[in-house]
Amino acid sequence: MKLIDFRSDTVTRPDKKMLKAMLQARVGDDVYGDDPTVNELQQKAAEITGKEDSLFVPSGTQSNLIALMTHCQRGEEYIVGQQAHTYQFEAGGAAVLGSIQPQPIDFEADGSLSLVKIKNVIKPDDPHFARTKLICLENTHNGKVVPQEKIIEIAKLANTKNLNMHLDGARIANAAVSSGKNIDELCEPFESVSMCLSKGLGAPVGSVLCAPKDFIIEAKRWRKMLGGGMRQAGYLAAAGIYALKNNIKRLEQDHENAKLLCAELLKIDEKIVPAKKSFTNMIFVKFPQKTVKILEERLSKNNILFSIKKTGESRLVLHKDVSEKDVKKFVEEVKNTLKI
Ligand SMILES: *Cc1c(COP(=O)(O)O)cnc(C)c1O
Repeated sequence: MKLIDFRSDTVTRPDKKMLKAMLQARVGDDVYGDDPTVNELQQKAAEITGKEDSLFVPSGTQSNLIALMTHCQRGEEYIVGQQAHTYQFEAGGAAVLGSIQPQPIDFEADGSLSLVKIKNVIKPDDPHFARTKLICLENTHNGKVVPQEKIIEIAKLANTKNLNMHLDGARIANAAVSSGKNIDELCEPFESVSMCLSKGLGAPVGSVLCAPKDFIIEAKRWRKMLGGGMRQAGYLAAAGIYALKNNIKRLEQDHENAKLLCAELLKIDEKIVPAKKSFTNMIFVKFPQKTVKILEERLSKNNILFSIKKTGESRLVLHKDVSEKDVKKFVEEVKNTLKI
């Protein structure tokens, strides 16, 4: 029985064509800058994001940390959303390893940060305060495509206050496909952008940090220090190149499947999807609390994996290894279980 995994788009596995590209990769020692495939990936990622250069790194977490450490010195701070990955889900790395202070503020409903809230936390030049250095945004945030006009407003503010902008664009390709805009346009307001290759794009490992050339030179030093300098990484970079060439446009399918899943769940019971809609490749559902155990049991018996809290809240994520047929199977199982 096929495993159907709704927990995250990180669970995607390389398909045969991607594996073939990996096997055929020409490699060298990338710490010496000798790996032609890594160099090709870095060039391609820079092009796609509209930046001068980029750096291939093992994970999105390391990519964001390197960016923060390149933007901010010890005792400086970055403004960031309260539930942002770079604040809540990276083990406090910026504080622990960078001595960088986060200044979290609540997200707006659309996934942006409010100009007023940002202004209120930018510190004056006073020895009591950490120096504000950076604004860090996320796109998509919880699957939401952040309105570009809001991002541009924030960038204007950053410019007048002499702050830099970093984008945690782990799923920026989803945002681009969903909004019909190009990735480079979405990245334009930012000095640096981190993009995951290992989520919806389907590569097994890796992220790219994209930024100006001098920024990447500094970033390379931090990558080495953080243990992210890899040797014959071209085998992995080949998967990234394949992903960028072949797996961006197909994200549309995941968004369509998310819409289908949402519509079908709403048919079962309107209350299951409080927001009544999906967000790019995600859907946030709330199953009746008393059905949590039985849902978990029934679905795992059918080889369906999904994460659900005790409250019944669950995030379902669509990706290339979940087909329309899989969505229908999931809906059938949910329907049958909730009927009991
Ligand atoms: C997944 C993700 C990252 C990076 O995660 P890694 O597992 O370290 O690759 C960063 N930001 C967001 C928003 C993410 O979803």
